[in-house]
Amino acid sequence: MALSRFAYVRSYEQQDAALPNTYMLVRLDGKGFHKFSAKHLFHKPNDARALELMNHAARKVMEQLRPEVVLAFGESDEYSFLLRRSCTLYSRRQSFTDPLSKILTYVTSLFTSNYVLAWSTFFPNQHLDEAPSFDGRLVLYPTEKEVRDYFSWRQADTHVNNLYNTVFWAMVQGGKTEREAHERLKGTLSADKNEILFNEHNINYDSLPPLFRKGSTLVWRPETDACFKQSDSSSPSSLQVKTKGKSKMTLQTLHVDIIGHAFWSSPRIQPRS
Ligand code: ATP
Ligand code: ATP
Ligand code: MG
Ligand code: MG
Ligand code: MG
Ligand code: MG
Repeated sequence: MALSRFAYVRSYEQQDAALPNTYMLVRLDGKGFHKFSAKHLFHKPNDARALELMNHAARKVMEQLRPEVVLAFGESDEYSFLLRRSCTLYSRRQSFTDPLSKILTYVTSLFTSNYVLAWSTFFPNQHLDEAPSFDGRLVLYPTEKEVRDYFSWRQADTHVNNLYNTVFWAMVQGGKTEREAHERLKGTLSADKNEILFNEHNINYDSLPPLFRKGSTLVWRPETDACFKQSDSSSPSSLQVKTKGKSKMTLQTLHVDIIGHAFWSSPRIQPRS
């Protein structure tokens, strides 16, 4: 039969072993979003509509892959998804094909299509002029320590970039050229940037929206679990998303510190499972 005569080509699809009992972490990042954001007139330094659109696409991924994705974190044009340790997505199939690339490409395309699908809801007055794309990578982490350190690393990045961008754009909007603003910021420490913001631009960094300062963290939690209060319950991102399924779990969007111990000791996430 022609099919079986040609089927040997499948054996070239390398089986990239998905180590059992490791954490899988997928991170997506927008391709060329510096340009994409300028073309679509994103507000600088932070366009809340764009961040909420990213959060929306990420929630769709978590709903679709439920219950495999236990935690996600987003900032700027990137999103990270943590798959639970016992994740068996694709891997239990009798197949030659690499489960890791299937997971990675599935998450990446699902995120991208939902981003495009919801564009006009978040940008009702801004035509989508270009097909946005995201690249993805998948990393395996052996223990909870690396997982926590990974998310701390991303949230620290949010802080460093946001502080820099906030001062930078305050200077540019105050009349400096982009080159002058970069020059002035060269070699400055966090404390210096906070001081410039406060003294010269009347901005108290700590009073900026947590969405900008802390990024967005998505977690599933039991509907009845009221032990955790959102710091800003009026923001649209704190709306709970009801999901189907037997155990009544809601997907919550938080803008909180995830570097400290408190977040990880709460019963909301069980990456161990
Ligand atoms: P690459 O393809 O290498 O990722 P890039 O242009 O996407 O290149 P990044 O380092 O990923 O570069 O940075 C993303 C850029 O997109 C930011 O620097 C910022 O200019 C812009 N951007 C992303 N999200 C927003 C947002 N919500 N508001 C304003 N600007 C944003
Ligand atoms: P999986 O997620 O495992 O890939 P699947 O439902 O996508 O499941 P496939 O083996 O990839 O299964 O088959 C794709 C199916 O999609 C086809 O069996 C057919 O039913 C449908 N399909 C795809 N393209 C077309 C098309 N152009 N016209 C009609 N049906 C199509
Ligand atoms: Mg990149
Ligand atoms: Mg990018
Ligand atoms: Mg980026
Ligand atoms: Mg198919």
